[in-house]
Amino acid sequence: MKDIILEMERYAIANNVPIIEKDSIAFIMRYIKMNNVKNILEIGSAIGYSAILMASTDPDIKVTTIEKDESRYMECLKNVKKCNFEEKIEVVYQDALDVNLSDVSYDLIFIDAAKGQYTKFFEKFKYFLKPNGSIISDNINFHGYANGEKEATTKGLKGIVTKLKSYREYLENNEEFTTKFIDIGDGLAISFRDNNGK
Ligand code: SAM
Repeated sequence: MKDIILEMERYAIANNVPIIEKDSIAFIMRYIKMNNVKNILEIGSAIGYSAILMASTDPDIKVTTIEKDESRYMECLKNVKKCNFEEKIEVVYQDALDVNLSDVSYDLIFIDAAKGQYTKFFEKFKYFLKPNGSIISDNINFHGYANGEKEATTKGLKGIVTKLKSYREYLENNEEFTTKFIDIGDGLAISFRDNNGK
């Protein structure tokens, strides 16, 4: 398993695939254990790195992970198979905004896909969160651009930063959820429903 994870890290660097920072996934894995998380929905699988690590924290954990890029989805399936995690991880090849979920609910929803669509993901998937569940969003600082440490210069970057800043505001002013911002890795936000899990 350790070898497969190392191989995935090397693959990600060689092929320019963005995967979660080590400190962030270590934090999430501790969070999963401490909060007895069993069912996880991940938006943005890439090659399955975070899904596999989250699934590895406990024998009973089930992860559903969604990826819209075909080659990453294929790579993710390969990696899940290599780890013998086919029973633990379901990989869905679709745009998360088009996925139809019904009669399911999750202890944890992990948002790690297109940065400009975080508010849409949150609004769509919050209905599938268990009452005591939480939503974790990654890259909330976006390399220092979204938390005001650095100024975006290019047009593309400015667009993403504006949307991420507005997502941060959306979380800060949300009347249904309370969010803690954690300066770990590229920044994590953990959102809890107000009447629960605070
Ligand atoms: N969670 C992964 C990890 O740490 O191993 C990394 C995910 S990577 C940062 C983001 C992934 O989200 C990309 O592979 C991208 O193709 C995918 N993605 C972006 N927008 C998406 C969407 N609307 N639906 C599904 N996948 C999406």
